[in-house]
Amino acid sequence: MSQQDPFTDFQRLATEADQLARDLTAFRQELNRVLEQNAELIIENKHLRGRLDQLSEQNEQSDKPEMLPSRRNLEKLYDAGYHICNMMYGARRENNEPCAFCTNIIYGNGDRTSRQA
Ligand SMILES: [Zn+2]
Repeated sequence: MSQQDPFTDFQRLATEADQLARDLTAFRQELNRVLEQNAELIIENKHLRGRLDQLSEQNEQSDKPEMLPSRRNLEKLYDAGYHICNMMYGARRENNEPCAFCTNIIYGNGDRTSRQA
């Protein structure tokens, strides 16, 4: 390779090393910034998730008394003697036999208490 004198090589290496040190410092600062931001986001996310759980709990509670129109239609079909479950959709329920799949779709969450109301 080049036959430069050792001093020039040294100068070049020293300059590169300085630059590397500066890059490293900048990189470390950036890394710290990202880590800080990440920690903040984790905390914020936790708070938001908690708030979301609260809201969906409230929603579930206020939804329970009334039935969605789509479910009411399914209930009508079921009461008329037809399956509305995926397995048997549209088939007649022999002798009005109850179907757990159907009732689960209509009343969901195992809540069948409001059925005869
Ligand atoms: Zn069914």
